[in-house]
Amino acid sequence: MRMLIMGPPGAGKGTQGAKVAEEFGIPEISTGAIFRSNIANQTELGKIVKAIIDKGELVPDSLTVDLVADRLAQPDTAPGFLLDGFPRTVAQAEALEGILDKLGIKLDACLLLIVDGETLVARMMKRAAIEGRSDDNEETIRRRFEVYSAETEPLLALYRDKGLLVEVDGLGDVPVVHSRIVAALKA
Ligand code: ADP
Repeated sequence: MRMLIMGPPGAGKGTQGAKVAEEFGIPEISTGAIFRSNIANQTELGKIVKAIIDKGELVPDSLTVDLVADRLAQPDTAPGFLLDGFPRTVAQAEALEGILDKLGIKLDACLLLIVDGETLVARMMKRAAIEGRSDDNEETIRRRFEVYSAETEPLLALYRDKGLLVEVDGLGDVPVVHSRIVAALKA
């Protein structure tokens, strides 16, 4: 299974992505998590991206695309992969096509988690209190929603046109949503 998981901030991509990846025995590749681990380890990349992420802006495609290309070339992706948080722009989606073409593989599905705006905000505020992610403050969250609408949402039409979009209702308890996702992907 080679798939993307998409949806606005707070839709549950990280939570559900990890469970889906486990279900299918594939690695979950989250660009956000990779950036956060680089920030925590104070790597060169981490130092560059910290201020950008804290503002809710996108890390430049030039830094993001190579990172994903390298990751997808690792042998553990042989049975497939789940990409979370990438692609986020039209340019990244085009770059992903190139990466997959070179590897001689194709996507099987693009999973979209659908959650209403009010629930998203409530979840983000709750997570901010629990996890203390430095980009989970009100101003940054607002900016991340704007960036999602402007840059990432347009990609959904692209995957819908390719017949890859699988839309799942992301409202409800974690196991309930997980069952819905598995049913939709296996359908
Ligand atoms: P969320 O989906 O909740 O916004 P992520 O963990 O996916 O959280 O991303 C956190 C931040 O990391 C983003 O706001 C952005 O700054 C950066 N980021 C993650 N993935 C990408 C990407 N593909 N392109 C550019 N920036 C990214």
